Amino acid sequence: MDRRSFIKYGVFSAVSSYGLLSIPGISFGETVFDLSISGQNFIQKKQFVKATAVLEKAVTIDPENDWAFGLLGRAYNGLGKKREAVIAFNKAVKINPNDTFSRMMAEMLSQKPLPPPKKPKKPMTPLEKEALKEEKEILSKIKSAEGLDYKISRVVIDAGHGGFDSGAIGKNGLKEKDVNLDIALKLHKKLKASQIKSFLTRTGDYYVPLSARTVTANQYKADLFVSIHINANKNPKPHGTETYFCSEKASSKEAQKVAAYENSVLKFDTPYKKKTGYIDIEDILFKFEQKLNWKESDQLANKFQDRFQKELPFKSRGVHSANFYVLRRAQMPSILLEMGFISNSTNEAKLSSPVFRDKIANAIFKGLV
Ligand SMILES: [Zn+2]
Repeated sequence: MDRRSFIKYGVFSAVSSYGLLSIPGISFGETVFDLSISGQNFIQKKQFVKATAVLEKAVTIDPENDWAFGLLGRAYNGLGKKREAVIAFNKAVKINPNDTFSRMMAEMLSQKPLPPPKKPKKPMTPLEKEALKEEKEILSKIKSAEGLDYKISRVVIDAGHGGFDSGAIGKNGLKEKDVNLDIALKLHKKLKASQIKSFLTRTGDYYVPLSARTVTANQYKADLFVSIHINANKNPKPHGTETYFCSEKASSKEAQKVAAYENSVLKFDTPYKKKTGYIDIEDILFKFEQKLNWKESDQLANKFQDRFQKELPFKSRGVHSANFYVLRRAQMPSILLEMGFISNSTNEAKLSSPVFRDKIANAIFKGLV
């Protein structure tokens, strides 16, 4: 059975539309079906030990049941048993090469691509066609992540902080929020004059919650999200620019500190609430997409910093990664730029100058195009 139908319509509607014993292409009896359903229910309730037990039973009775193996993979994954999950997902794919979901999970967990499915001989159902289209889109994303043909046409520029949240403040009183906004507006102007469509998360001095910033980027269906910031350090010596992309683990303790600072306004946000009582397929798919986006962001950040540093008379401190909340839920590649240190007096003086800010905007523009 095509797993997509579960993703799209949920298991219960799939059951009611096919009838209990007449799911095409699946040769299992009622017992295996009941076991699988109860496994599915346990997964929903996050009772993964119970889920594993009934699903192990199901696959013992019917070792050719891709559906049960796919569920078993999810149950093991829920238990954190990666190896067992990969074995179960692989088995599901072996039985049904068109099981896109198990394939994605197996590849994601094992970090190894599986051989592509053979072309189906039967004419495809509309659902299968849709699944194939989606798969192609994901594949093309991976291809572009390898630097083959990534083109940016829609950018969302995020001027960090704003309103009561000033961000970092320099010794001479320069506020990060003001520099960020000015650079963002200048960059926006340059992008608008080019072929690239540009959008801003804020256009004035007001506070925008971190979560609302990515929501904006997602709504505009941007293909790049750029968050602009100025760094600060207790030590007045560090100076220069850094480009960040999002990752679960920070690339260094320094990077972790930068993210902790930028995430500190999170206390003013309404927390993102996870839906409970639902199959978390959406979340699993989101995490899969997120991995691809982070991989692309990594490559983009490196290419960007390469070009960008040639344009700006500031020291380049390279590309780093950390868990930035503002980048986390972006459904596209995203980078966060730290355009110098406000805590360094030379950097602060330069950042106070509108002419220099224009140079920065220009360097970002060149880095992007
Ligand atoms: Zn900041």
